[in-house]
Amino acid sequence: MTYSAPLKADAPPLIDPFGRHVSYLRVSVTDRCDFRCVYCMSENMTFLPKKDLLTLEELDRLCTAFVAKGVRKLRITGGEPLVRKNIMWLFEALSRHLKSGALDELTLTTNGSQLPRFAKQLADCGVKRVNISLDTLSAEKFREITRWGNFDQVIAGIDAAREAGLHVKINAVALKGVNEHEYDEMIRWTHGQGMDLTLIEAMPMGDIDGDRSGQYLPLSLVRARLMDAWTLEDIPYKTGGPATYVKVAETGGRIGFITPLTHNFCESCNRVRVTCTGTLYMCLGQDDAADLRTPLRAAENDGLLGDAIDEAISRKPKGHDFIIERGASRPAVSRHMSVTGG
Ligand code: SAM
Ligand code: SF4
Repeated sequence: MTYSAPLKADAPPLIDPFGRHVSYLRVSVTDRCDFRCVYCMSENMTFLPKKDLLTLEELDRLCTAFVAKGVRKLRITGGEPLVRKNIMWLFEALSRHLKSGALDELTLTTNGSQLPRFAKQLADCGVKRVNISLDTLSAEKFREITRWGNFDQVIAGIDAAREAGLHVKINAVALKGVNEHEYDEMIRWTHGQGMDLTLIEAMPMGDIDGDRSGQYLPLSLVRARLMDAWTLEDIPYKTGGPATYVKVAETGGRIGFITPLTHNFCESCNRVRVTCTGTLYMCLGQDDAADLRTPLRAAENDGLLGDAIDEAISRKPKGHDFIIERGASRPAVSRHMSVTGG
């Protein structure tokens, strides 16, 4: 496999109609996964035919085109990114942009199951931080939430990441009646090992088996409850993502809150997402999209691709309108989170 052509450094930056500079790209490299988390997928998911997926070379070309246009941070996600065959080739390829200084950060979101195999290689590619999703510290509950996941394997993955020198952030989706009484323990566990913890509100994306309104737990409520046990100090810390952070005085660690439903974080949105088929979503919460696969495959140079990216960014919407309605039969956004990536 060969890497795509060198960057043109003179491409104008991506500025949307609201003056926001798009500097963060999240790329889903597969819609497949070795887990079936209840809030993310139904147990019998139909996955995309392999021929629809961008090849690893095409993903490299696509990311490289965005880097040429001023994207400084790349997050590889999925589905489970580390189950994509030969995925380390892509990390190695993209690491050249870290070495050249064109990219500030190359990172990933993973369920952790494959980290015992890959943590060291990721660190060798210049990955410094990794988000690992873990919604509970109970092995039994973990099995109920992920359906197919193995708790011990994920804990081994977290250990492997830390041993490889990666900074680990644990992401937990707040699930009513499932993990809502575990956050104190999760704070002690993560902060005790120098890891940050981010809580995420469940978003109404994609059909799952069951009604979502029962899963939804507003983080405003969680935060109020945490304040009974902990001293939370608002801090200006930012990682380029949508989380707002507090510092816990008792532990010195941080908790992030991602609250798409209770708090509108769109004003400062600097990111766009590409699916594994090359569809660019300008907003996680809207269906408007641009096909980048056709221009990517239409020519060997990146002229058409660059034009398609510019045109799409000129359509980036001001914000989203997620609502979880009690009894709503359809999700607010029909595609699954595993298609666009978290
Ligand atoms: N498989 C990887 C993982 O689980 O970390 C990466 C992809 S996953 C779609 C990215 C993140 O989205 C995970 O933290 C997951 O918990 C979260 N997620 C999935 N579906 C969600 C939903 N409906 N609402 C909120 N978060 C969701
Ligand atoms: Fe897989 Fe991640 Fe979705 Fe869970 S949240 S099913 S690990 S893609």
